[in-house]
Amino acid sequence: MYDILIVGASTTGCWFAHKMASQGFKVLVIEKEEPHNVSRAYDVFHMSRPEMEQFDLIIPDPDDPIRAFSFADSPMLSPYGNHPKASSGGPETIGLHKHDYIMLMADRAKAAGAEIIYGASFTDLIFDEKGKVVGGKYKTADGETQARAKLVADCSGIPSVARTKLPDTSVVDNLKLTEKDILFVVLYYVEYLNKDLDPRSLDGFFLQYKSWSAPSGNPNGAILGIGAFYGYDYAEEVFNSEFTKNSPFPEYKIEKIEKGMTPYHRSVYSFVDDGFIAMGDAAFLTKPTCGEGCTSSLVQGEIAVEVISKLLKEGKALSKDNMWSINKRYMKAQGKDFDSMRPLLMGIIAPSCDEAEYLFANDIIFSQKILGNVDSGFELNAKDIADILKGVLTGISKKDLRPSTIGKIAKGLVGSMKIGNHYDAYPDSPYEFYKWKSKADKLWKEIGSVADTCDPAILKKIGR
Ligand SMILES: Cc1cc2nc3c(=O)[nH]c(=O)nc-3n(C[C@H](O)[C@H](O)[C@H](O)COP(=O)(O)OP(=O)(O)OC[C@H]3O[C@@H](n4cnc5c(N)ncnc54)[C@H](O)[C@@H]3O)c2cc1C
Repeated sequence: MYDILIVGASTTGCWFAHKMASQGFKVLVIEKEEPHNVSRAYDVFHMSRPEMEQFDLIIPDPDDPIRAFSFADSPMLSPYGNHPKASSGGPETIGLHKHDYIMLMADRAKAAGAEIIYGASFTDLIFDEKGKVVGGKYKTADGETQARAKLVADCSGIPSVARTKLPDTSVVDNLKLTEKDILFVVLYYVEYLNKDLDPRSLDGFFLQYKSWSAPSGNPNGAILGIGAFYGYDYAEEVFNSEFTKNSPFPEYKIEKIEKGMTPYHRSVYSFVDDGFIAMGDAAFLTKPTCGEGCTSSLVQGEIAVEVISKLLKEGKALSKDNMWSINKRYMKAQGKDFDSMRPLLMGIIAPSCDEAEYLFANDIIFSQKILGNVDSGFELNAKDIADILKGVLTGISKKDLRPSTIGKIAKGLVGSMKIGNHYDAYPDSPYEFYKWKSKADKLWKEIGSVADTCDPAILKKIGR
């Protein structure tokens, strides 16, 4: 009998395994891939140094081959590549080779006592007669077997192989993500032909196209990346027909192209049920601006480690009642900020490129205060709102802004406030949950999805 069965040995699964095993708990991790195949979709990912320190992640030395590069945080840019708005503080961001880094995390978990079985594909949950999760079944080359555990942690990413096996009556959503809830990311590793150029001077994030230029590890190159809903073909179309046309980059050759998927969906409302927890991408804990999730997942992870360790040490059941504080504390720590950002972003990407350029240039909505702090949270005061209103009215009177665009931005702001207020009232126990959930469902139905803002002409062009 294990204390914890973890499904998936990528960043979230290995981190959780290390944290729990190092306190002496009996941990089994099952991973469907063989070690050499774990996390091969894309090569380099990055995390900021303060986040790595916060979550006790290993920071490889600058000359360690796992480390690809490091850079200071890059700014948000207008659709035509102007008016940079830098994030406050601009922490050091460290690029790492993802497969190798995950193997390092796995070694640390194993050294702490966790057992990891590779080539072991989860197939189903095991329930007791009361419907409590008591373990999982998995297949290896030798056939199907099972492991009993006090807690099953789904860390299997987008497929969410364990969470989706929960019954409809569970407080944890068993939904499967659709093509409207996933960012399909295409990474173009480019090398500039002009060797005297400083590629870092071109780095930045373009919210309008969900595109960016970032270091690739090649001092004369960059990753030009783009994320989009519906599929890689939609992303490629926006990259070629809008992004690189409106904000042309100096001549380059493409060295390689990588593709990968990341969730873009509000987090599940409840992470826990009796004997069960959803974590990482399986619980949709990615940042609403860029879809990165390795560290944002660990905000919930840290709370989970604290609550679950205490319960195990006290010999108490890992029931949804006993673990409910994980939900409540996460919503306060990050969930409210992330999920109230989603409707706001829908409003923010509503302007045309020319309108957005105007707003960037005049520091209205696309302001240093808002864009410089999107992932760290910010409060708008009465003066900020008055300044936004004044700027918007001036823009409308000068015909630089359409009233309909402002209507969409206002709708985003209102949606954001409603979600924020509702998440502030997250229930203290599972007993009030269904009432809260029903209102949350209603709000999200009114708000819709960011994918609803996709360009119908592009959808038609790619045959959807
Ligand atoms: C192109 C791209 C670039 C990104 N860059 C960054 C970045 O720079 N920084 C950042 O923070 N985030 C980034 N992200 C997001 C990041 O990749 C994810 O948020 C993160 O990997 C989530 O980790 P996870 O452990 O929760 O899930 P995953 O990494 O998806 O891992 C899930 C694991 O579960 C295993 N699994 C699946 N099914 C089964 C099964 N049936 N049985 C057993 N095991 C199973 C999988 O093989 C996998 O190893 C990027 C995403 C993409 C697509």
